[in-house]
Amino acid sequence: MSDTQLSRRRLVAGLGTAAGAVALGAGCGSSAKSKTTTTTPAPGAQFPHPATPDAALDLLRAGNQRYRNSQVELRDFSPVTEQAAKAQKPFAAIITCADSRISPTLLFDIAAGNLFVSRVAGNTIDEGMLGSTEYAVAKLGVKVVVVMGHSDCGAVKAAIGVADGSAHFPADHYGSIGAVVDRVVPVVNGLPAGQRTLERATTANASAQAKKLAAKEPVIAPAVAAGKLRVVSTVYDIASGQIPL
Ligand SMILES: [Zn+2]
Repeated sequence: MSDTQLSRRRLVAGLGTAAGAVALGAGCGSSAKSKTTTTTPAPGAQFPHPATPDAALDLLRAGNQRYRNSQVELRDFSPVTEQAAKAQKPFAAIITCADSRISPTLLFDIAAGNLFVSRVAGNTIDEGMLGSTEYAVAKLGVKVVVVMGHSDCGAVKAAIGVADGSAHFPADHYGSIGAVVDRVVPVVNGLPAGQRTLERATTANASAQAKKLAAKEPVIAPAVAAGKLRVVSTVYDIASGQIPL
């Protein structure tokens, strides 16, 4: 059975199981009719898992360049693929904001199973983000951790407001929103008074969170010291799609 036939069978099987399969499968089905396009990448392309941090960053850079150029590679994201069900082999951990405009798998144009993504508004390092990323490093062998802020970040805007006294998030009205914002506030306060702009605060926050993460014992810091892992920060520009790495 050819890959095209197999994809078609999976598409049909998925139609009866979930609404999501219908939506995803429709796209796969139309592309599967083309003799020149494959929806099932070779195993090596599915999980490249580069050997070094620098090679991992190169893959992310290349993927983001394809995304920016509207040259994303067609992949099968159907939930009924056997490969997706049985394996993941992430080479990068992404720590980013919960903002709805961020889709790391798309922004880095990579197949499912390659990015281990942890998200919280303001992309800060709380215990859940730390433990999840430690798992990715210690157990899944990721080679690079990217702390990714983004343009127009509401959490950073809120932190600037808290820092200058114009915004308040009392728990009796806002629940835990203030606690999330408060993790960014020290970074804003660390900037000179005349430089607390959204752009500077966003960059400083991503950098500060990466620095904090890189120093964490007993998993992250030793891996960095051994050259097995790099922890970097960046800011995703939503308008252009650019993620400088
Ligand atoms: Zn945000």
